[in-house]
Amino acid sequence: MAPKTVFITGANRGIGLGIVKELLKVPGIETIIAGARNVETAKELQSFSQADSRLHLISVDVSEDESLENSVKQVEGLVGDRGLNLLINNAGILEHYRTTDPPNRATVLRTIDVNAVSALLASQYFLPLLKKAAEQTQGDEFSVSRAGIVNIGSDCSSQTLNVTGFCNETLLAYKMSKTAMLSFARSLVADFKTLNVPVLVTTIHPGWVLTDMGGPHAEISVEESASKIVSSIDKLNQSHNGGLFDRQLTALPF
Ligand code: NDP
Repeated sequence: MAPKTVFITGANRGIGLGIVKELLKVPGIETIIAGARNVETAKELQSFSQADSRLHLISVDVSEDESLENSVKQVEGLVGDRGLNLLINNAGILEHYRTTDPPNRATVLRTIDVNAVSALLASQYFLPLLKKAAEQTQGDEFSVSRAGIVNIGSDCSSQTLNVTGFCNETLLAYKMSKTAMLSFARSLVADFKTLNVPVLVTTIHPGWVLTDMGGPHAEISVEESASKIVSSIDKLNQSHNGGLFDRQLTALPF
C-alpha cells in the first residue's frame, strides 16, 4: 500500500525532482510535499503542482534549524490528523576534496552538516508527525504506508564499497558524510526499538545518476533511478529496517 502523505527534501532538481515525478504517478498517495531551498525559482515543481493538486511546495533549507522548524509547521498544516507517513531525506551536496588538498575544515564540515547532520535533525524534527501516522495502525508492522524515513544514501555510505569505483579519493568529505548518514540511520533503528516507535528507517543508494552532482559521465538517467526508488519504497518492510540497499533493494554491505 502506498503512503498517504510524503515529504521530500531537495526536490527542485536532480533525483529529488525525479522522485516527485514518480510519486505523482502513484494513485494511492494523497499529499506530496516537495521541499526546496527556494520554491520561487523551482519552475518545474511549480508547473507540476499547478497540474496536480496533491503536490504542495514549501521552502526549506535543511541546514537551518529555523527553516526545518517552519517546514514542520507547514507540513503539519497540510497533513493534519493523518500525520506524515514518509520522510525522504534527499537533499545533499558534493564538494571534491582530496587527501592532498590544503586542509579545509569548512568544506569537510559543510558536507557533513548538509548530508548527515541535517538529515538526522530533519528526522528528529519530523518524528512527532511520523509517530502520529504510525499510531494510526495497530501491531508491529513496519512499512512506509505506516511510517518511515528513507535516506538517499550512496554506495559511498558503505565502508566496504567506498574505497572503490565512483567513491574515489576526491570524495573524501562526501564519503565521511554518507557513512555518517548510514550510521545515524542504524542508530535510529536501535533507539526506535528501545522506545517502541514503529517508524522504519532505511538507506537507499540511487545509482550513479546523470544529475548536476552525478556529472555527465554517470551511468543512469534520473528517471531510471527515481522510478526504481519509488517502486522499491513501496516494498519496504521490517527486513529493510536499518539496512543499505541499491535502488532495486539489493542489500549492500556496510
Ligand atoms: P543535485 O546536486 O542534482 O541536487 C541536490 C539537491 O539537494 C538540490 O535540490 C539542492 O537544492 C538540494 N540541497 C542541497 N543543499 C541543500 C540544503 N541545505 N537545503 C535544502 N536542499 C539542499 O544532486 P542529486 O540529485 O544527484 O543527489 C540527490 C541525493 O542523491 C543526494 O543526497 C546525493 O548525495 C545522492 N546521491 C547521488 C548520486 C548521483 O550519482 N547523482 C549517487 C549517490 C547518491 P538547490 O537547487 O537549492 O541547490
